[in-house]
Amino acid sequence: MSQTMIKKCLIIGYPVAHSFSPLIHQAGYKSLNIEDQYSYEALEVITDDLANFVDRIKKQHFHGISITIPHKETIMNYLDEIDPVAEEIGAVNTVLNKDGKLCGYNTDYIGVIKPLKKLIDPKAKKAAVIGAGGAAKAFVYALKELGADVTIYNRTPSTAAALAKQFKCSYSTLENQTNIKQCAIVCNASSIGLAGSKTEGVSPVDQKYLTSHQIVFDAVYRPLKTELIKNAESAGAKIILGVEMLLYQAFAQFKYFTGQDAPEAVMRKSLTDFLNAN
Ligand code: NAP
Repeated sequence: MSQTMIKKCLIIGYPVAHSFSPLIHQAGYKSLNIEDQYSYEALEVITDDLANFVDRIKKQHFHGISITIPHKETIMNYLDEIDPVAEEIGAVNTVLNKDGKLCGYNTDYIGVIKPLKKLIDPKAKKAAVIGAGGAAKAFVYALKELGADVTIYNRTPSTAAALAKQFKCSYSTLENQTNIKQCAIVCNASSIGLAGSKTEGVSPVDQKYLTSHQIVFDAVYRPLKTELIKNAESAGAKIILGVEMLLYQAFAQFKYFTGQDAPEAVMRKSLTDFLNAN
């Protein structure tokens, strides 16, 4: 296949240089013998350049774009079509260029549903979601879809209130955590605990509210095991690491970009091999 026919895929965001997505997608292309048909790279795009970048998608025939922080919401203003689920969530992490028509989807919520359903049926279970940003939207949507009784906890109460209104659920301040102890599912969808941030090594949930009856799911995957996850393990809870969400959203995105089922085991192995070596 000639160079010009390669379907160019990208992840855009800021910062994006250390993204695992190129590694995971490229492993999938290689496994399916389509690495001469698809490319996948990371491209730093700052907010002020987003409109220019959207022009480039069409001019340079980019095929599929993974969207990460801070563009998941803003990108929606530039798309020709938005999938109803992404519209309802209010965030797009996947853009497909269909012959010049830019279509937006959300696969983050799939990254929440798939690993959760392996461990629990969330129907009628109490769930806490920490955070009220882009990731939290995917968590709350997924949990509501599965029938959970969700409460959002966020540093800025007004943002929590707006998200709670959007999804018809409850909210609380981040300080008032007592009810978390009664939750079967505890999710961190905030960036608390993220490596390199001021909250590295900090858990968003007080240890005394973690129990062995819970499933604790942290969206943060750097470090691989956050303080919250370590505390959850000591409390005897079941855990879901942020890399699970990352992998399952990538598998769904791979299908949008290539039309083929993701070779999940190979894509997963590419990430675990990398993480074990680094
Ligand atoms: P975002 O839209 O910027 O939202 C950040 C959230 O974290 C907000 O609720 C914010 O609260 C809260 N927060 C940030 N710093 C805080 C602090 N020092 N104390 C208390 N709360 C704080 O980001 P996002 O897109 O939702 O992403 C959140 C995290 O999830 C990131 O670490 C990201 O890497 C991770 N993530 C992982 C995956 C995955 O596949 N595993 C997918 C998406 C995101 P305020 O409203 O008060 O500012």
